Amino acid sequence: MTEAEKNQRRYALAISGGVCEVCGKPLTDGQPQGAHRIGNTKANREKYGAFVIDHPLNIGYTCSLRCNAALDISKNPGEVMRLCKKIYQREALRYEGEIKKTT
Ligand SMILES: [Zn+2]
Repeated sequence: MTEAEKNQRRYALAISGGVCEVCGKPLTDGQPQGAHRIGNTKANREKYGAFVIDHPLNIGYTCSLRCNAALDISKNPGEVMRLCKKIYQREALRYEGEIKKTT
C-alpha cells in the first residue's frame, strides 16, 4: 500500500466512523473504497460539474464493490437534488465572512 493509499484509508475510517455506510461492516477488513453517490461518469461530470462529483459529500465509504454500487443515487433525481443543495449550502458557508464584511 502506498503512503497516499494509507492516508486515504485513514481519512475514510475517520469520517465513516470506521464502518461501511451500506452494510455497517468494519472498514478495517476487506477493501474499503470511496464510492460516488452521484456516479463518476462523463455524463454526470458534464451535468453537475467536477465541483459536485469530486466533493467530499459526494463520496461515501463502503467495504466492497457490491456496497459501493448500492450507494449510487444517480437514478434518483430527488436524492441528487438534495445532495447538490447540501454541497452548495456547505460551500456557501465559506463565503459568509465576506458577505458580513461588505454589509
Ligand atoms: Zn458494506
